[in-house]
Amino acid sequence: MDHFLYRDGQLMAEDVPLARIADEVGTPVYVYSAATLLRHFTLFDDALGKMPHLVCFAMKSLSNIAVLKLLGDAGAGMDVVSEGEYRRARAAGVPGERIVFSGVGKTRHEMRVALEGGIRQFNVESEPEMQALSEVATAMGVIAPITVRVNPDVDAKTHAKISTGKKEDKFGIPIGRARDVYRVAAALPGLKVVGIDVHIGSQLTDLAPFEAAYIKVAELTEALRADGHEITRLDLGGGLGIPYMRNNEAPPLPMEYGALIQKCVGHLGCEIEIEPGRLISGNAGVLLSKVIYNKSGEGREFLIVDGAMNDLIRPAMYEAHHDIVPVIEPSPGVARQTYDVVGPICESGDTFAKERVMPPVKEGELIAFRSAGAYGAVMSSEYNSRLMVPEVLVQGDQFAVIRPRPTYDEMISRDRVPEWL
Ligand SMILES: *Cc1c(COP(=O)(O)O)cnc(C)c1O
Repeated sequence: MDHFLYRDGQLMAEDVPLARIADEVGTPVYVYSAATLLRHFTLFDDALGKMPHLVCFAMKSLSNIAVLKLLGDAGAGMDVVSEGEYRRARAAGVPGERIVFSGVGKTRHEMRVALEGGIRQFNVESEPEMQALSEVATAMGVIAPITVRVNPDVDAKTHAKISTGKKEDKFGIPIGRARDVYRVAAALPGLKVVGIDVHIGSQLTDLAPFEAAYIKVAELTEALRADGHEITRLDLGGGLGIPYMRNNEAPPLPMEYGALIQKCVGHLGCEIEIEPGRLISGNAGVLLSKVIYNKSGEGREFLIVDGAMNDLIRPAMYEAHHDIVPVIEPSPGVARQTYDVVGPICESGDTFAKERVMPPVKEGELIAFRSAGAYGAVMSSEYNSRLMVPEVLVQGDQFAVIRPRPTYDEMISRDRVPEWL
C-alpha cells in the first residue's frame, strides 16, 4: 500500500496533487511520500515483534538526508556502504550506534572516519579487510565491533546483477570457511566479534532462499558459540522484493518475513538487524515526467517524455519494469493504447517500456513512473548534460523540495578549464 492515489480525477501524493508539484518545481522530478516511507519502516519494525532488533534502512536505495531524518527520527538505523553515506546519515542526525557499515571495499580512511564518528558495527567481508580494520582500530586505540559477512551459497533466484549470495559472487566469505575466519578475527587486536552478517540479494519474491540462508546462519551461530565466540547479533541483510505491477507479482509481506526470522533464528536469543532498502523506499516514490511528443513510427507509437535514463536507469540497467500511469485519471472504459515510452537521450537504451499497454496520454500531459523511490534518484546522473533531477518530499498537504534542480550555470561552472588551454 502507498499514498499515490487518484482523488477527484487527479493523481495525488498524499494530499498534494502531483500536477501542482509539476507546476511549481518542473519535470522530471522525484516525489516521495513520507507516510509511505514511515508505514513501510513500521511494518518491518512490527514484523520483528518482541525480538530485540534494529531495522537499518539500506540508504543506498534512497539517500536524501530529509528521508534519512524522517526514518531516523522514527527510530531506524542505517546501513551505509561508503564514507559519503556515513556522513549523510550523521548529517541527518542518526547516531553512530545505529549505523552499520557494509561493503566489500571499505578503505582504511573510511574505517577511521566511522570509528571516529561512532559506529554500531562493521560488516567485514574478507580477511584482508579484517586485517586492515584491526590495524586502523589498534592505531586509534579503539575496539571495532564486527560481524563477518558469510556467503551461504544459496540462489536468490533474482536478477543476476542483484544476486549476491552464491559462491561465485564477490560478497562475503564462503560459509564453509567461516569458523577459520572467526578464529583469525578473534585473535586480531582491535576487533570485537559481535555477530554474523548475511545478505543474499535484492528483489527476492520468495521466502525460500531467505529460509535456506537463515537456517545456515543459525547452524553457524551454534558452531561459533561452541568454538567460544560470543555471537549476540545477527544481521540478516535486506532484499525483500516489492511488486512492480508486472505478472501480478505478490512478494511476501514483511509480517511473513518476520515470522520466518523468528522461526529460523528466534531461539538463539540474538539481537536481530535487518537492512531493507527497496521495500521501504521503492513504492514510496514516483518519477513525475511530462510527454514532449507523441510520435508515430513504423507500426509503433512512441511516447517521448522529458525524463530519461540518466534520471531513472533501472529499465536500462536491470530490465526493470515500472508501472506508468497518467496523472489525470483516465475515464473508465477508455480504449488503451500501446506505446514505447522513451526518453530524449540518443541511445536505444533510453527506453522505459516497450509495447506498454496503458491509457492514452497526449503531448504536454503528465505521467508518473511508479515504484521509483528506490535506486532511482540515487543512480541519476547528468548524462547528456541534463540537469540533475530534483527531489520533493510530501507529508500530508505540504511538500518541500529536498534537492533542488541546479541551474545550467551551476552545472557548467563545476568544470575547470586549465590555464594552459
Ligand atoms: C543493497 C543491499 C541491501 C538492500 O537491498 P534491498 O534489496 O534494497 O532491500 C541491504 N544490505 C546490503 C549489504 C546491500 O548490499
